[in-house]
Amino acid sequence: MFGSHLSVAGGMVNALTSATELGFDTVQVFTKNQRQWKAPALKDSEAREWLSGLKDRGWERRTVSHATYLMNCASPDADLFKKSAAMLIEELNRCAALSIPFLVAHPGSHLGEGVEKGAARIGKAAAEAFRKGAGVAGAFRVTLCLENTAGGGATMGRTFEELALVKQAIDDASQGDADGRVGFCVDTCHALAAGYDLRGGTPPKAAGAGRARQREACRAVLNEFDRVCGLGLLRVLHLNDSKGALGSRLDRHTHLGMGEVGLGAFQEIVSDARLRDVPMILETPKEDDEKGRAWDTVNLGVLRRLAKG
Ligand SMILES: [Zn+2]
Ligand SMILES: [Zn+2]
Repeated sequence: MFGSHLSVAGGMVNALTSATELGFDTVQVFTKNQRQWKAPALKDSEAREWLSGLKDRGWERRTVSHATYLMNCASPDADLFKKSAAMLIEELNRCAALSIPFLVAHPGSHLGEGVEKGAARIGKAAAEAFRKGAGVAGAFRVTLCLENTAGGGATMGRTFEELALVKQAIDDASQGDADGRVGFCVDTCHALAAGYDLRGGTPPKAAGAGRARQREACRAVLNEFDRVCGLGLLRVLHLNDSKGALGSRLDRHTHLGMGEVGLGAFQEIVSDARLRDVPMILETPKEDDEKGRAWDTVNLGVLRRLAKG
């Protein structure tokens, strides 16, 4: 199940149209402008078009929304926390209105107050959202997917342990209201930049880098994730190569096979039977390559070739 983060300019449904044209099986979108707090209400006609587009494609249980980058439920600033908690409710409700099962969100930044306090604040915000029934439409429930980060500054989610801690804080604060609605998203670029060695010591372009060793290293990281967070709770993958070096904490995405992650990791991920039902989303740069082909098409071709072995 391969997808890409695509633009909703001109209407939500345009992302579905582009995804189909590019040959994807799913898509990730922003359901509101990701750089603004205020968002006009979702128009009924826009939601209807999107829903019928989903139905036409049989994509009802697989699309992904990415929450706005402004949201920081870990913030010790009371005003920012309040706005972020309200935004989480809005984001969950938009997903519910659009039948998008997965809302990916970065945990946020504790701004120096420490991981424990940050996690407790996120717990409070999410518990409030769940208590109010945000992200619920009939029997449909949106899953909040906590994404790992490259970990610059006081950013939370650099380690799998921090992700697990945030989930635990949400579960504790929710007292049952979370009801299995918290999962995870792993981004390969962020993982490598955060220090998870997905290629077995040797940078992909250096002499001695081998596909088998890369795959083994990636498998070890996935197993580590399984031990700490549980692969059953991994609901979304972001497949991005990394311009930043191992442990650099730089969040710079690049095309598959052109960065520090290397193709072995991607081959391992697309071959792992445990990940068969997980939407795998590209968040790589969008311009055309030197031959005039859309980079999304080029990266999708790489994934398809790797999946075939
Ligand atoms: Zn990502
Ligand atoms: Zn990123």
